Amino acid sequence: MLDHMVIRLGKYLRIVGYDAEWDILVRTHDLIVRANNEGRIFITRNRRLPCQYPVPKQAIVMTETDPVQQLRQLEVELGIDTRSRLFVRCIRCNVDLLPVEDASTLTGRVHPNVLRQHTSFYTCPSCGTVFWRGSHVRNTCRKLGLRPPAGTSPDEST
Ligand SMILES: [Zn+2]
Repeated sequence: MLDHMVIRLGKYLRIVGYDAEWDILVRTHDLIVRANNEGRIFITRNRRLPCQYPVPKQAIVMTETDPVQQLRQLEVELGIDTRSRLFVRCIRCNVDLLPVEDASTLTGRVHPNVLRQHTSFYTCPSCGTVFWRGSHVRNTCRKLGLRPPAGTSPDEST
């Protein structure tokens, strides 16, 4: 559970396959209550949580300001795995993606060039978005300092 100061870290956590939640419409107090109820680790940059807040059962305070460095901090302090579940989760919906068995079913939903250039596709069971491992995946991996997952297209033509 991420507070409002570390939402970009939350997006990166979803990219590396972790269940990460935040809600800009919910007060910090309620985020902590929800984290405690759902067994989530509360992640914040706030070094001193005000005393009117509930005490998080599990919390981690980010000392880094850059989200990429924050991800590194979680690797060190929580031992999170940023390698084996890359791009298996919908960044919008926070649910696991499903592999598309038959890419021909995507005709009309995905540009023909993309269908031609890629063999593996995934869909989100919640929002229905179709994903493939193209330049976006490669660029994001570069930004996060990670090796792109198998099946990512090597060229820049997506
Ligand atoms: Zn989705």
